[in-house]
Amino acid sequence: MGKYIILCGGRIIDPALSRDEIGDIWLKDGKIVPAGKDIPDDAVCLDVAGKWIVPGLIDMHVHLRDPGQEYKEDIESGTRAAAAGGFTAVACMPNTIPVNDCGAVTRYILEKAAMADARVYPVGAVSRGSLGKEMADFGEMKEAGAVAVTDDGHPVTDSQLMRRSLEYATSHGFFLMSHSEENALSRNGCMNEGEVATRMGLKGIPNAAESVMVYRDIAIAELTGGHVHFCHISTEESLDLIRQAKARGVHVSAESAPHYFSLTEEAVRGYNTNAKMNPPLRNEKSRLAVIEALKDGTLDAIATDHAPHAVTEKDVEFDQAANGIIGLETALPLSLELVRAGHISEKRLVELMSVNPANLLGVEGGTLAEGVAADVTVVDPDLEFVFHEEIICSKGKNSPFIGRKLKGKAVMTFMNGRLTAGDKEAFQKGSV
Ligand SMILES: [Zn+2]
Repeated sequence: MGKYIILCGGRIIDPALSRDEIGDIWLKDGKIVPAGKDIPDDAVCLDVAGKWIVPGLIDMHVHLRDPGQEYKEDIESGTRAAAAGGFTAVACMPNTIPVNDCGAVTRYILEKAAMADARVYPVGAVSRGSLGKEMADFGEMKEAGAVAVTDDGHPVTDSQLMRRSLEYATSHGFFLMSHSEENALSRNGCMNEGEVATRMGLKGIPNAAESVMVYRDIAIAELTGGHVHFCHISTEESLDLIRQAKARGVHVSAESAPHYFSLTEEAVRGYNTNAKMNPPLRNEKSRLAVIEALKDGTLDAIATDHAPHAVTEKDVEFDQAANGIIGLETALPLSLELVRAGHISEKRLVELMSVNPANLLGVEGGTLAEGVAADVTVVDPDLEFVFHEEIICSKGKNSPFIGRKLKGKAVMTFMNGRLTAGDKEAFQKGSV
């Protein structure tokens, strides 16, 4: 039997139990357990006064690059970055080499993740090789442990394949994560279409490249009754469509990433390749629309789209640079900016970053209820730090937030009752 770990005097925020109060959380043998009357002599008591105790954060959209591109990231480094950012679980996208389109790759990921610093939920491909031609074997991936399907990185261009895949996904208990992009509209584009792109002499990607596909996939969700989840939504138009679809009862959900509510296309000025991603950073109007949608429930989750790349893939001409940025270690402080600005409550933040992702993925977590696995994040909402390269756990250093002063940080992350990130020395001494 392990020792008790007692988190003392923190602000417990657990929306699933409608709890927001100062109190203690007791952990033992990997579970959250009822508080005892007396503190056992050998218990590790951690004073977390002034800090928040929340259910472990869950990121439903990350790229771990493993198998095949371990020079960018691997399961070990990616989950270490997750833990450092306060995440106890991540869902990993299938665009690895080979693509996770079969049981063997799903099993490889899960075997490697067994020792990792966060739970890893593999998402399988919709089509073989994510090539958009033949459907992958959902039954095989389901049996191996996949939690959803997507061809993320690419849209499912063929509408008939999308329809059949959604029907097939539904019959296997999967939801389908849509990377909504109309390639004919986005082709050769490398940033948001508009004045900034024109001035910089770069080809732009219009908002419609996203919203056209969001519209199609809402129509297919409506046609089939299947559940479509929209990934990394960046535009006002897409959010309006999703809002209307939800109001009519269509089975859709959606996520956006911290960069879409923290930055605009202005970040691209100076040809900053660390501000290059797909979909691209949009204008101020869309940024505000994302915040509004996080507030009103149009968006269900904040997901990072953590996309590590090697320096050589970013340190090139802007139009040649790889798309994407790392996000696991900045998601929480950037989201806390929305709380401090009064856009969302602390409770809503926990819903967006833990409760809703757990429910959508159909996995454990999202609550601090007694008896559940001890996946717990302790947040210091006032801790200020400068995000610099030396502190990044991810192999990728491609972040537009390097050098930015951030406020609020996960100071301890427990997965299954094990301290996966935080000050281990202070933990030994029983103080943080
Ligand atoms: Zn994508």
